[in-house]
Amino acid sequence: MATIFSHALVAVAVGSTFSPSWLPRRWWVAGAFCAVLPDADVIAFALRIPYGDPWGHRGLTHSLFGAAVLAVTWATLLVRQRRPGFAVALYLFIATALHGLLDAMTDGGLGAALLAPFDDTRYFLPFRPLRVSPIGTGFFSAAAIPVLLSEFLWLALPSAVVMALGWWRYRHAATAVATETSAPRTR
Ligand SMILES: [Zn+2]
Repeated sequence: MATIFSHALVAVAVGSTFSPSWLPRRWWVAGAFCAVLPDADVIAFALRIPYGDPWGHRGLTHSLFGAAVLAVTWATLLVRQRRPGFAVALYLFIATALHGLLDAMTDGGLGAALLAPFDDTRYFLPFRPLRVSPIGTGFFSAAAIPVLLSEFLWLALPSAVVMALGWWRYRHAATAVATETSAPRTR
């Protein structure tokens, strides 16, 4: 897996591309949570569920179907207004689905069951620049350094650029509105 920090950061970066009127920023927190949640399936190791099982690590929880179920459930439970509800569901789906896709870009473990439960094949993407993160206490060792470096290069930096562009676009739009409303009206 990629680290939970990178999964959360990518989700926030995706949230910054949405218009604030469609996706209030408070939903970025929910997006980060959804992006991390699929890795709760590491409990499968403690339950002696085999890695390659559909309920094992990187199984159903890392699928597009799982992402859709989680997003629709969250949006249905937590959103009352119709239009933002669609944007929230879309955002939470993307944030969650990216987890499996990013794991499929790592160089270790089994791939992610992106198409489960319809196809239990574990998939890797053709482009796999991310070093796989050690699971459990192994993360707090020297083995984590190349992992963090690869994620900084391929996930943190692009996320920072996306967030900077989103911030610039938001400020530009806010400035344009302020200029328009303060301009003297003429006949
Ligand atoms: Zn994962």
